[in-house]
Amino acid sequence: MIELINVNKDYDNGVKAIDNLNLKIEQGEFAYLVGPSGAGKSTLIKLLYRQVKPTSGQIMVNNFNLNTITDKEIPTLRRTLGVVFQDFKLLPRLTVFENVAYALRVTETPEEQIPEMVNSVLRMVGLEERAAMFPNQISGGEQQRIAIARSIVNKPSVLIADEPTGNLDPNTTEDIMKLIEEINQSGTTILMATHNQDIVNTHVHRVIEIEHGVKIRDEEGGNYINEN
Ligand code: ADP
Ligand code: ADP
Repeated sequence: MIELINVNKDYDNGVKAIDNLNLKIEQGEFAYLVGPSGAGKSTLIKLLYRQVKPTSGQIMVNNFNLNTITDKEIPTLRRTLGVVFQDFKLLPRLTVFENVAYALRVTETPEEQIPEMVNSVLRMVGLEERAAMFPNQISGGEQQRIAIARSIVNKPSVLIADEPTGNLDPNTTEDIMKLIEEINQSGTTILMATHNQDIVNTHVHRVIEIEHGVKIRDEEGGNYINEN
């Protein structure tokens, strides 16, 4: 569950990136985050995994109160969140297998459990046969599948995706969307920032639109463009 109450984020340079935002996303929902470049989408996402702190207001994520969370608790918060990005952020010197295993090592999963957990999630994203390859030996779409595998291997209750298909062609985008839909159907909450109109209009879900840090629309089953 994600809840923001009267949240503001002002950067040091005076930019008001988030302006009095109120938002609640229930467990299991699928919500898109749309809005022009500079609207505050990435800032909102960074607030949720505690990459940035709010200037004021309250944020709850998966029963963690981000106003009172201690530095020691932040890894525990992040274990409940999977995050994927437009540029995949795979570690280039590690194999596909080791990229996914890395997410388990940093959360101190017992070593003997790692191989089965990694193989199982690679099977789910359909890339078990790529396990020994390096990121630069596989396609962009495959790299994003690996990044998604890494983000869900700890079984997070929320998957946050910041423009996950921004670097992919339309066919690959569709494959990635099917995978994200599957993850949602298993009960994982999805919050996905996107500029892709086709996705939002064909994979229909809640649409949250922000502009200049202000929520200007929040609509069940909305389109990319507000038609009301
Ligand atoms: P979006 O993801 O919708 O493109 P961002 O959250 O990246 O929007 O940016 C919102 C606003 O905050 C923009 O004006 C951007 O330039 C500004 N901004 C983002 N990050 C920083 C930062 N670290 N310091 C100062 N301003 C920032
Ligand atoms: P994003 O893909 O998150 O929008 P950008 O490429 O806009 O990232 O920004 C890269 C980095 O610079 C981020 O850490 C972002 O927070 C920071 N940043 C973005 N806009 C500004 C700004 N106007 N002033 C200072 N830092 C910024």
